Formats: sequence, C-alpha cells, structure tokens
Amino acid sequence: MTTPPNLSHGRPYLAIPGPSVIPDPVLQAMHRAAPNIYDGELVDMMPGLTADLKRVARTQHHVAMYTGNGHAAWEAALANVIRPGDKVLVPATGRFGVGWGEMAKGIGAEVDLLDFGLHSPMDMDRISEVLKADKAHEIKAVLGVHVDTSTSIRNDIPALRAVIDAADHPALLMADCIASLGCDLFEMDDWGVDVMVTGCQKGLMVPPGMSFVFFNDKADAARASMPRVSWYWDWSPRAHAEEFFQYHGGTAPTHHLYGLRTALDMIHAEGIEAVWARHAVLARAIWAACEAWSEAGSFAMNVTDRAYRSNAVTSLRLEAPKATALRNWVEGQLGLTLGIGLGMAPPKDPAWHGFFRLGHMGHVNGQMIMGLLGGIEAGMRSLNIEHGPGALDAASAVIAEN
Ligand SMILES: *Cc1c(COP(=O)(O)O)cnc(C)c1O
Repeated sequence: MTTPPNLSHGRPYLAIPGPSVIPDPVLQAMHRAAPNIYDGELVDMMPGLTADLKRVARTQHHVAMYTGNGHAAWEAALANVIRPGDKVLVPATGRFGVGWGEMAKGIGAEVDLLDFGLHSPMDMDRISEVLKADKAHEIKAVLGVHVDTSTSIRNDIPALRAVIDAADHPALLMADCIASLGCDLFEMDDWGVDVMVTGCQKGLMVPPGMSFVFFNDKADAARASMPRVSWYWDWSPRAHAEEFFQYHGGTAPTHHLYGLRTALDMIHAEGIEAVWARHAVLARAIWAACEAWSEAGSFAMNVTDRAYRSNAVTSLRLEAPKATALRNWVEGQLGLTLGIGLGMAPPKDPAWHGFFRLGHMGHVNGQMIMGLLGGIEAGMRSLNIEHGPGALDAASAVIAEN
C-alpha cells in the first residue's frame, strides 16, 4: 500500500494577518553585508524614506521611526501626549482596541472603554454622547483602531473625526492603522487624524521590527505641553533629525531600512490608489466565496455588513473544533497557513477552535487569493465540513469582472 502524496511541497503561502508575505525583492534588499551606519548610502537614504512613508500615510506632517513592533508604536504614541491621570476614550471593536486601551492604562491614563463587541463597528452616537458629556474636556485623546485585526471590522475614521468636531471637543484623534495602512483607503490629513501608528510587517511587507508614529502640529503642540516625555519614546528628535542616529535613538535597524526602501518603491511604482484598489477587488473575491460557503453548515463571516469589512483581513467562524482542523489540514496538506482566531474566545476555551482568519494584506495577487480559496474548499471537502456550493465560481466571477 502506498501513502498518498503530500501536496505541501512547493512555495508555502502564509495567509495570516501579519506578518504578511515578504516580497522577494524586499528579502533580496536585506541580504547584504552590514553597512556603515554613520556615513554613505544608509544615511543618504533617510530623507527619502521619511518622504515616501508620508506619501503612503497621505500626510504632509511628521513621522517618527522606532525599532519595535506595533506595540512599540502604541506606547510611543501615548508616551508623547498622555500623562498619568489623563483620560482617554477607547471605542473598541475587538482585541486590538482593548489592547491599546490596556497599554494606556499601563502608562497611568484613566481609560474610558466603550466596548462595541466583536461584530459591529463603533457606534458614533454613543461616542458622541460621551464626548458631549465631557464638558470639562478631561478626555485628552480618542484611540480608534481603523481595522481591528481580530474581528476584521473596519471603522469609519472620518465619522469618528466628525463626532469629535460636532461635540466641539479638543481631544486628539489617534488612529491605529497597523493592519490597514497600504491595504484599506486611509487619508491621514484629509480625515483630520492627529496621530497615526503603524508597523512594517503588514501592508508595508517588511519583516516585523520597525514601527512608525505619524503626527500633526496639533499633536506636536500637545507633546510640547508635556512636563516630561520618556527619552526613548520622544518623537521630537526622531521626526526632526539632523543626525542619523536621532532617527532611531540608537543603532539603526539597518537591514529593515533596506527592506523598507524596496517595499516603498514597490508601493509607489504600483501607486497607492492602485494598491488600495487591488486589495478591494481581492477582498470582494474572498467575500463572495465566504458568503457562498455560509449558505450551508456552520461557516459564517464575522462581519455581515460589507461596508464594515476590511480589505486586509477576514475573520471567520466554523463550529468548533472545525476551524482548527481546517487550518491544520491546509497547512499540512497544501502548505497554506491560515490565521488563528484572536480575541473571539481565550485559547484555552474549546470554542476557540471555531474561529480562524485570512490575511490578505500587502504582497498578494489574484492567483494567490484563488489558491487560498481553492485550498480552503479542498480542506472542507476532505474533512467533510458542510458548506454552501459555488464559492470558487463566485470568487472567479469577481476577478473576471474586474
Ligand atoms: C498587528 C496589530 C497590532 C500589534 O502589532 P504588533 O506588531 O504585533 O505589536 C496592533 N493593532 C493592530 C490593528 C494590528 O493589526
């Protein structure tokens, strides 16, 4: 008796919502001898990197770079404008909103958490009530996650700005675009975002290790009124650097800078609007397939309203423990890695095995998404997981009609 062949040999596909697929040119740019950090190419590269990051964020204002992941950018942003005892409002639509709030608590802020659960976007009316009731303007900042990667809910950041303005409230609007930058449409200046944080390992296609805090002059004025800001997190020297080391507050993440240079070149060669449009079409193909699968069995999308779905990540449910079984099958048999459920239930809870996520951020194209969907379909067939028909037809129709 021969064992059936295993179909996982070949190029694997990491379809988790960060870190994302690293493009070969980015990897190649990083594969080099250590550069001189005091003089030459690396130093000369910095002004261009700053300018090109701002083009992705759609801002004319400032950016500070940090050697650290998204959590570092969360803390950096807070450390520049929030002092112990300050109040922050956290409208949360998943694990990441709650997490940013916990970090604010960690630096001594008083956190007003408005938890909107795991299936719906921020309720702007409730946010408005809280802001209007804050007559003394004790709330210093509103921390809004653009795309919450645990639930795949995309929040309406311009609407959040509008409720802050309508309440005539001076609070800073701080946005977490760690999952969404370079995937979902985002306009920092046009949308009136005062502070935006992101990391390099999702839409920016670089291995984890760098993160960025963008801020405007209103936020910088709030920074200037702080009695003290921790030396390492202080954004001023990093954003207004004259000496190279000031960009990083220590040794630069040399190879990440080369990777980032190449990734930004790729984004701008395609054009940021084209990058957004590509993510939108691929996301619609995924939704079409998932909606078809949802017609039978326990398959369900976490977000029902398309208007609040992210173009970068999709959170899904299957009766536990089928989600874990499916993830294990496609990884072991096909070389396709899907994301675990996050924030929906604690990992020790058996229900946790009923959630999974698809990452479709950054370096992804039509054939990868069709392969992703075909792999999931094959897995559900092999495991006898009941699902609605026609998913691959529906996805290919979206791509064909593009
Ligand atoms: C990934 C992510 C984070 C955390 O970033 P790390 O690099 O893992 O620290 C925070 N917020 C959102 C929305 C994310 O997607």
